[in-house]
Amino acid sequence: MLKACACETLQEVVHGCLQLHGGTGFIIGAPIERMARDARILTIGGGTTEVMLEEVAKRM
Ligand SMILES: Cc1cc2nc3c(=O)[nH]c(=O)nc-3n(C[C@H](O)[C@H](O)[C@H](O)COP(=O)(O)OP(=O)(O)OC[C@H]3O[C@@H](n4cnc5c(N)ncnc54)[C@H](O)[C@@H]3O)c2cc1C
Repeated sequence: MLKACACETLQEVVHGCLQLHGGTGFIIGAPIERMARDARILTIGGGTTEVMLEEVAKRM
């Protein structure tokens, strides 16, 4: 539950930050662009959000 929640929350936060930087945030090599890419894998690696939520549902 924590992994799914934390990783999905991070997507909202990091994309909000990227938006705040405007076009600069989208340029490869900009710190926020790298952070957004790094954050994105967290909903996939080590178990995707969908699979995490399926496991949560099974235990409820
Ligand atoms: C950069 C990178 C590094 C990695 N490093 C490691 C590592 O060090 N060790 C390791 O063990 N693995 C590693 N992985 C693999 C990672 O754990 C898998 O990519 C991840 O588990 C998803 O599996 P998949 O890519 O086969 O996607 P799939 O399982 O094919 O999933 C594709 C899509 O279908 C959805 N889906 C699949 N099954 C269901 C379901 N039952 N219900 C609903 N939706 C579903 C998924 O949520 C996803 O959106 C790495 C992957 C990447 C990209």
